[in-house]
This record gives sequence, C-alpha cells and structure tokens, in this order.
Amino acid sequence: MTLRDQHLRPLKNLRLSVTDRCNLRCQYCMPEENYTWFPHEQILQFEECCQLVDVFTGLGVDKVRLTGGEPLLRRDLHILVRQLAQKAAIKDLALTTNGLLLAERVEELSAAGLGRLTISLDTLRHDRFFTLSRSKKLDQVMEGIEETKKTSLAASLKIDTVAMRGVNDDEFIDLIEFGGEHGAEVRFIEFMDVGGATTWSKDKVVTRAEMLRTFEKHYGAIEAVPKKDSAPADQYCLPDGRIFGIISSTTQPFCGNCDRSRLTADGKWFLCLYASTGIDLRAPLREGASTEELQAIIGQAWGSRDDRGAEERLTLKERGRLASASDMRKNPHLEMHTRGG
Ligand code: SF4
Repeated sequence: MTLRDQHLRPLKNLRLSVTDRCNLRCQYCMPEENYTWFPHEQILQFEECCQLVDVFTGLGVDKVRLTGGEPLLRRDLHILVRQLAQKAAIKDLALTTNGLLLAERVEELSAAGLGRLTISLDTLRHDRFFTLSRSKKLDQVMEGIEETKKTSLAASLKIDTVAMRGVNDDEFIDLIEFGGEHGAEVRFIEFMDVGGATTWSKDKVVTRAEMLRTFEKHYGAIEAVPKKDSAPADQYCLPDGRIFGIISSTTQPFCGNCDRSRLTADGKWFLCLYASTGIDLRAPLREGASTEELQAIIGQAWGSRDDRGAEERLTLKERGRLASASDMRKNPHLEMHTRGG
C-alpha cells in the first residue's frame, strides 16, 4: 500500500527519534543553557516504537532512521535495532549519531542488524569542536570512527557536516580528505533556519554553488552523479572517483519529492521539518487504538499533507530564524533535537 499526499508524494521514510536528550550543545541546535525535557513516562517504550513502526510499514514506509537528540543516549538501543532489523518490511535501517558514544556501542549495533550509519561531524579541529559543541571530546568521535571501521557498518559510513560561513568553511577540503582516509562519504548540509538555529542568518549559509566552486578549484572538474532515489543529498564525483554529497536544503530545497516524516521520542508525528504542529500518536496508541485505527489517523493526515516548508521559506523576502528561544521553551517540539534532524 502506498499513501500519497496532496503533491502525490508517497510516505516511505520515517525518522524515529528515540530521545530528546543530547550530550553535545551545538551552536546551531542547542545554544541555550537550559532545556525542558520530555518527562520519562511520555517517552515511547521500545515496544510502542515497534508497534508504531508496524503501523507505518503497513502504509508503505520501508526506510527507518533512528535519530534524537543523540540516539546512543537511549539505553539498550541495540535491542530496538534488533527488533526493527527483524521486520522484513524495513528495507533500510539507519542511524544518525554525533559519535561520542559510538566506540563502545557500534559493535552491538552492527551485530543487532543496523544497516547504515551516519556520523555528524562539523570540524576536525579540537578548539573549534569545543567552540561549536561545548565538548572537548572530539577524540571520542574519532575513536568511534575507528571502531566503526572494524564492523559491517564501515561499508555504508557517511559523515554529515553542517557548512557554516566563518565557522568551518575553511575545512571542507580537509573533511573530504578525512572521509577518504576513513572510507566515508562526506555530505555537506547547507545551514538551515530550523529549531535551535536561533542565530541563523542568510549570510552564514554556504551555498551548494559556493561549495562546488571550492571543490573544483582544489580538485578540478567535478561531475554530478545521476540521482536514483529521493534521498536529500545530491552526489558528486571527484576526478579521482571519490564521491561526496551536498544537501542544499536552504537554497535548492527538495520538497517536491519529500517522502519523509518524523516521529518524536514522545510520539508526536510531524509531516515536515518546518511544521508548527504534530499529530499525537502516543495517546491513541496507549488508549488501545487498533492498527487500523492508527492507520486511519496517519492515512488521513498524509492524504491532506501539503507541506513544502523549505520551499516556502525560500520565497520569504525577509528570512531569519524560524523560532525564538522563548517560543521553543514554551513548545519544545519546535526544537530540532526533539524533532530529529
Ligand atoms: S521542508 Fe518539509 S517538505 Fe520540504 S523536504 Fe523538508 S521535510 Fe520535506
């Protein structure tokens, strides 16, 4: 079964956040000193996650990505991974992590059946890592990458870098080289005006065009790799055959074929990264709604979906941050670390 929204986009991809907590405080995501966390009893249990995933796969979802916050902060995450990996309907089971706890967890995640791994890494420099994330633990991320290389996840390893002018735009070549040394495809994400990016401004966005110019100047002619799926990254090939990606969410959004939705750790379902409200699936689930009843809620919402958040932002004359810190304190669901990036 394939659900279609108002723009005939199918529902294929679920980003499942397993915690709203994070062990970094990245400037563009969690710049504040204090946050309001979801109460423990509101967080979906693994069994509830699996029940909802079954509801979604029954409607056509075949890709699941575990996110957070930082998903490795969720205790025994490998148990959930194992349960999800056993579901034949899931063709692609992936996880995005900041890598801090990876060294000690990657083997059990790989053994549990995780299919793909993405590590967020914005800089290779210790001082900059500290400025960006308020953590001195870059070495732990590096250990995580080394341990990943010993597992089956090495083959699919990706590194995601948020590209920010005046912050890390002098490191793009170093990051490509680093990815090459570690067998990872590096993907550069244009800085987005979402959630905790309260200091976002247009001039801090390094555009896809600028990035390509930087790479061509250094490496020579770069070829675009023909797109095969609805993944947000466009791939490019360097003259030596290495592949890298650019996710141009800000200047050239890809809402037209967006098949993604997001489920927060407390069971709110968001149909777009920019959506101001989500749909509560936890309450009906805990009240005993059947699979069919939950599918009716989801089907109705997806069928009415008209969201093209990033494209709409592009048409704004005056574009600034999406939400203020006080808005997010009142409504933590506006935060990227609750919604999953
Ligand atoms: S802004 Fe919304 S519709 Fe556009 S690609 Fe992102 S999640 Fe999809």
